Amino acid sequence: MPDKFQKELLETVAQVRGLLEDLQQLGVVEVPMGPDPNPRSPCSLEGQNSANDSRVETLLEIRDDLGDCQRCALSKGREQIVFGAGSATARLVLVGESPGRKEDQQGVPFVGEAGALLERILFAMGLKREDIYICNIQKCRPPKNRDPRPEEVAACVPFLKRQLAALQPQLIVTLGSFASQTLLETSQPILELRGHWQSYADIPVMPTYHPAFLLRNPATKREVWEDMKQVITRLRQENF
Ligand code: SF4
Repeated sequence: MPDKFQKELLETVAQVRGLLEDLQQLGVVEVPMGPDPNPRSPCSLEGQNSANDSRVETLLEIRDDLGDCQRCALSKGREQIVFGAGSATARLVLVGESPGRKEDQQGVPFVGEAGALLERILFAMGLKREDIYICNIQKCRPPKNRDPRPEEVAACVPFLKRQLAALQPQLIVTLGSFASQTLLETSQPILELRGHWQSYADIPVMPTYHPAFLLRNPATKREVWEDMKQVITRLRQENF
């Protein structure tokens, strides 16, 4: 067997093994059909919103306005802005905290180990990354991955809110304490928030743990899966 083929085969086996281990730790007994077999009608493409929402700006317009943003101190240490990625017609939006080193290098949210775990959770939900939209509260990497400061959050959050207004998702999942508390404007701990529906601008929000937390605490994967099952159910109820 050629070395290259053997290497690829071994990598695939390792990926499948990792996926099966994650599914087992999540407590997944069956992988559901994706709740969105048909894409949403094209109402908010990158450059075009619905006729009814002609005054709602597009993601591209928001990105243009962000430009080479210097609105807070995080601009100094970043390699690039991590605006967000995924489908502009997504009905489900995931909101994390801020880019890490790899995200900063690649300009894409949730890459690396935490991103791979997130993709496996999405797979268990019957979804792919391309079906949803993923972004962060903060669009530039804080040095040494420290928590963003209040003035940095205040400078960046308006752009997230504009993204959510452009996307008009049916559901939002906030990943981790910081994202949940910031978007919901609460100091309630994630321990209390997770698993319970909240609301942002009349959009249902499910707070859950951040994938990076799950990597450090694999036992909590089952709780996240319980949260995600609620998300799947609600998406189906809403004719997702
Ligand atoms: S974190 Fe947000 S507000 Fe601060 S520089 Fe980056 S894009 Fe601008």
